[in-house]
Amino acid sequence: MSFIWRMNGSFYLAERVRVGTEWKNKIIRRATEDEIKLYLELREHKYITVYMTCDNPSCDRSVRTTRNRKMKLRTEDPKKGRLEFVYCSKACREKHLSDLTAKG
Ligand SMILES: [Zn+2]
Repeated sequence: MSFIWRMNGSFYLAERVRVGTEWKNKIIRRATEDEIKLYLELREHKYITVYMTCDNPSCDRSVRTTRNRKMKLRTEDPKKGRLEFVYCSKACREKHLSDLTAKG
């Protein structure tokens, strides 16, 4: 599968190739204007600022983050128990975690 690779300020269409035991980026050709535009748009989309509600149920404040981080936080496999809580402050975090512990 090919992807856009940014190197020394230029954009290339590249693919992963196996060289011996290592995977390396192999340049196929220079990226076209359209490909560069799409790449930059997607990148921007990932880093756009979003707000998540504080996970302390008694708090209505929002936490500023990036869409990329939000996606990561909310799409980790729950079976691994790796969904992370998001808090607006350290106090909220401590309060919620102690409430959870108290109930368990
Ligand atoms: Zn909060």
